Amino acid sequence: MYYLTRQTAFEASHYNRIPELSDAENFALFGAAANPNSHGHNYVLEVMVKGDVEADDGMVINLVTLDALLKTEVIANYDHKHLNRQHPVFSENPYLQPTCENIAMEIWHRLVPSLPNQMLHRVRLYESTSNFADYYGEGSMVYLTKIYEFSAAHRLHSHALSDEANREVFGKCNNPAGHGHNYVLEVTVKGDVDERTGLVAGLNFLDEVVQKQVYARFDYKHLNIDAPEFETLNPTSENFVKVLWDVLEPNLRPVVLHRLRLRETAKNHFDYYGA
Ligand SMILES: [Zn+2]
Ligand SMILES: [Zn+2]
Repeated sequence: MYYLTRQTAFEASHYNRIPELSDAENFALFGAAANPNSHGHNYVLEVMVKGDVEADDGMVINLVTLDALLKTEVIANYDHKHLNRQHPVFSENPYLQPTCENIAMEIWHRLVPSLPNQMLHRVRLYESTSNFADYYGEGSMVYLTKIYEFSAAHRLHSHALSDEANREVFGKCNNPAGHGHNYVLEVTVKGDVDERTGLVAGLNFLDEVVQKQVYARFDYKHLNIDAPEFETLNPTSENFVKVLWDVLEPNLRPVVLHRLRLRETAKNHFDYYGA
């Protein structure tokens, strides 16, 4: 089995508003996306297909075929359009919100009939460089990711090892005065898209929880000194990602946390699924 991903992009405007709600209620649900005058995004779409390689041409699917499909099904309906007013599906139903989640599902259902059975694996739609939705054709289950960045210092040092062993194991990362990173944290939640709001979770809700549980505790801090979690625990990224899970997961409920990805540097990242 081979997996192939093709990227395309489109620019579109929209708003998220439930018609019978007041301005205040819509802003409470959707944040700034409720602006009745609209706003817009540079959407980036990644379409992942899977399959065996054809013996005669050595390909899963000809990219020319895939590009033509993306052009007629996606670009023609989405690029430089106002989604609430001009998109063939969203304009017909003011109760179907053009959220990142709903657009990812709409694109999936638009592409599937023109592709061989089971070939479409995933639709990933970036609404901005810091948030995207993944859809795998599983009912209304969508995975929503938001990317955060924060800065912290740490020193890798295990209390179970001698000073000499610490220097050997951790090298320059054992520097007593510490060093620091711009940590990048990807928070992925999953769930059925709410029919009324078109959301798995409000990004403003995720932001609030991350602000309180991550930024307030760890941003511009020295993990070993400022964070009680690391008083005796070595702040490796493995330990750190679990600490982050333990503070985020209960505070996100009933939203289901699916995965945390912690990037310590551009060269390494650590994924944790809660177990
Ligand atoms: Zn938007
Ligand atoms: Zn480090």
